[in-house]
Amino acid sequence: MKKTILFSLLAGILFCQAQENPPNIILMIGDGMGLTQISSGMYANNNQTILEQFPFIGLSKTHATNKLVTDSAASGTAMATGVKTYNGVVGIDSENVSQKSILEICKEKGYTAGLIATSSIVHATPASFYANVNSRRQYEDIALQLSEHNIDLFVGGGSKYFNQRKDGRNLIKEMSTYQFVNSLKEFKKSSAQKIGFLTHESEPPSLMLGRKPALNQITKLSLEKMNAAGKPFFMMVESSQIDWGGHANELKYVVSEFIEFDEAIKEVLEFAKADGNTLVIVTADHETGGLSLLDGNLKKGKVEGKFGTTSHSAAMVPVFSFGPKAELFSGIYENTALFDKMLEIVEEK
Ligand code: MG
Ligand code: ZN
Repeated sequence: MKKTILFSLLAGILFCQAQENPPNIILMIGDGMGLTQISSGMYANNNQTILEQFPFIGLSKTHATNKLVTDSAASGTAMATGVKTYNGVVGIDSENVSQKSILEICKEKGYTAGLIATSSIVHATPASFYANVNSRRQYEDIALQLSEHNIDLFVGGGSKYFNQRKDGRNLIKEMSTYQFVNSLKEFKKSSAQKIGFLTHESEPPSLMLGRKPALNQITKLSLEKMNAAGKPFFMMVESSQIDWGGHANELKYVVSEFIEFDEAIKEVLEFAKADGNTLVIVTADHETGGLSLLDGNLKKGKVEGKFGTTSHSAAMVPVFSFGPKAELFSGIYENTALFDKMLEIVEEK
């Protein structure tokens, strides 16, 4: 009898502790980052990637409701909300019903939340975490939905969708609880509870054309800010332009964007290792370009490939995970299961 009571007490304490310490979740999405994009970047970068340090690896099936080959909107929605849907729609299922995202669920549970992208912040992938629209092209509507949201930190391009709108509204002025910063220096200095950093008026340029600030710097500073808030946090970091390199069939574009992403993943993994209660998931929404690696030179860091399409392909994409419950992400599963697994962790089932 005594043993039972002791056991219940212990279990109760353990349970309470678990409830009090839900893990941070950092979801990192390489848009268009299939296995050959990773391989290209790795071979071109002294045959190494930080992804080699992740203990668990899975594969995600990316198909959409109506098409074998998904777009970023349907796949973003699948990962963010757990439902398969049509290509082109954001945050709604195939019957037009708005879905709650993992970011929103985390917010309800007392998390802080952040979004970082190297595209505009209203682009399909980041939008999947806060918006519900019929078309991913409704950028001004998506911006409006972001302005009505309570995301604590966001970094990405697309300021024109906030302050050069057809309806004449200036959402940056309307978002009075936010501090908007205009440079990495200002971003670093800011200790505001809610921060917006719209890095470019439209879509940011490629890294090859000089995009700044670097994703690893933004990521590192964001981690410091999220951590300083003293609550568990959910963060989504997207390397958006691996996909654009694939669409352009430019291997150099793909490789340079991947190597930048690799640096950002390194920051996140270092943080997670030091923190001890941070789950890191790195994956892709789909492969882009049907890329095959056909030749190259390891010593020279040269890779040569062929693209099979200027669009996406239906190949499964890898999932790398580290941290508490990371083992849940090994195996082969639908991309919607990424949501299910994150939900399971957030709900402590
Ligand atoms: Mg994207
Ligand atoms: Zn694409």
